[in-house]
Amino acid sequence: MSGTHGTETTAGPVLGDTPPEATSATGEAGGNSAGIAAVGRVARELMPDTGVIQDPTQLRTYECDGLAHYRVTPALVVLPETTEQLAGVVRACAEHGVPFVARGSGTGLSGGALPRADGVLVVTSRMRTIREVRRADQRAVVEPGVINLDVTRAATPEGYYYAPDPSSQQICSIGGNLAENSGGAHCLKYGFTSNHVLGAELVTPQGDVVELGGLAPDAPGYDLLGTVVGSEGTLGIATTATVRLVRLPEEVRTLLAGFRTTDDAGAATSAIIGSGVLPAAIEMMDALAIEAAEAAVHCNYPDGAGAVLVIELDGPAAEVEHEYAEVERLCQEHGAFELRLAIDATERALIWRGRKSAFAAVGRISPDYIVQDGVIPRTALPEVLRAIAELSSSSGVRVANVFHAGDGNLHPLVLFDDAKPGAGEAAEKVSGAILDLCISHGGAITGEHGVGVDKAAYMPKMFTGDDLDTMQLVRCAFDPGNISNPGKIFPTPRLCGEVPGKRKHAHPLVEAGLADAF
Ligand SMILES: Cc1cc2nc3c(=O)[nH]c(=O)nc-3n(C[C@H](O)[C@H](O)[C@H](O)COP(=O)(O)OP(=O)(O)OC[C@H]3O[C@@H](n4cnc5c(N)ncnc54)[C@H](O)[C@@H]3O)c2cc1C
Repeated sequence: MSGTHGTETTAGPVLGDTPPEATSATGEAGGNSAGIAAVGRVARELMPDTGVIQDPTQLRTYECDGLAHYRVTPALVVLPETTEQLAGVVRACAEHGVPFVARGSGTGLSGGALPRADGVLVVTSRMRTIREVRRADQRAVVEPGVINLDVTRAATPEGYYYAPDPSSQQICSIGGNLAENSGGAHCLKYGFTSNHVLGAELVTPQGDVVELGGLAPDAPGYDLLGTVVGSEGTLGIATTATVRLVRLPEEVRTLLAGFRTTDDAGAATSAIIGSGVLPAAIEMMDALAIEAAEAAVHCNYPDGAGAVLVIELDGPAAEVEHEYAEVERLCQEHGAFELRLAIDATERALIWRGRKSAFAAVGRISPDYIVQDGVIPRTALPEVLRAIAELSSSSGVRVANVFHAGDGNLHPLVLFDDAKPGAGEAAEKVSGAILDLCISHGGAITGEHGVGVDKAAYMPKMFTGDDLDTMQLVRCAFDPGNISNPGKIFPTPRLCGEVPGKRKHAHPLVEAGLADAF
């Protein structure tokens, strides 16, 4: 499950050295020690000593990403400072058949940057230069380790910002955003990362450096950039990204609306978007999430609310004025019993503080929790939220909902106490059943956190074997050696060169008990 225990960013209990169903994703320690040694030698020739880590204690710093209950110590960590250094290491990996995994800031919540015990972790945190802010082109060219919020910081003096805003934007990297096709509260209006990355320099799994897309709006030929964005590091490592900058809006209005039920709040969400108004953000929190946020940050949300919506409108002042009147009317029509418009920046920040603190705040009402991530058509919100409530009451497992309502991107927080025998398993079961609900309502198993190792086993619930084989063909076209973040996304490593379609015999790795069949 897309989960974390305790708080969103702190490590939780180690459930095992490797995810039980994902041995093929993590490799065996000492698997190709000669290859690792060779790559280590190349890395030391290419970069300073501080850029190559082989000390076991230091290696453990990198053993997990934001999904802290999967942990694997990598065989080697490199921290390149340039594309040439990074490409040199990848070339050596290709030559010696050593798998590699890219890592930005390690905030991913699906185990995408989980290292390989037999591989190299390529960390981009020393590639943090914003190379250009091109005001007239509304573009910035940045290195992959650049922190998301730093792009906005660099562009703001020019009157621009970088729109995709994951809640982790103070720490996550642009390379990680590109690989996960990350979203955020304001992606409702502005779109996900894929709408904002126009070009990338990519180090292919063979170690070649290629340019995809660029400053111009579109490139002829197959959309290889579109293929790479969201590919979770399985098609190579991005070493620069050319991103779109968006003009800072003239006016921003933030409204907090209190509803008695999530049904009403969900219906209001659909009505607003159905009316043609496109807010920058519509975020929802249910009663349990509100209780947690109140305990943590005293955000003073409406008393007795079964759900709140945080609605943000932005754009030219006259347009925002007009849209605000419409949103107010629709909220009232759908049962809002309190509407609070932030009158200044302090009030706006307080409204957002409740929402932004909600994940961590849940730690106040539960010692452990799983952060689930699924997506549904927004019109299905009331029905799916009701079904989640039923799941919760029939299982006795509490679920708090805080999520991007406008996008139908759910983040149910499944609460449990790991000290109680069986509680973790019960929570996992509810968490999995929520994904089933998303699929059965026309949605998907992840809205923005990616598949990684965590949800690979769920892919066959959404895709047929033929679908998965076709995706593997794309992967094999980029990475015939299967060394770029192998074992992620797909439930079993169908090998390049294998004929897609029904297998006549079990895959040798399946026979050996090392992988699941899909
Ligand atoms: C508190 C918290 C809040 C979050 N909120 C959101 C949210 O609102 N929206 C959202 O979408 N996500 C959210 N996330 C998840 C996470 O922050 C995003 O997925 C983010 O994009 C990961 O960036 P990173 O630099 O940490 O990547 P990492 O975790 O280091 O890596 C993520 C994946 O990208 C690959 N990768 C990294 N760099 C590169 C590169 N240069 N080239 C190719 N592949 C690469 C890795 O191999 C891995 O598969 C949240 C996480 C936390 C902890």
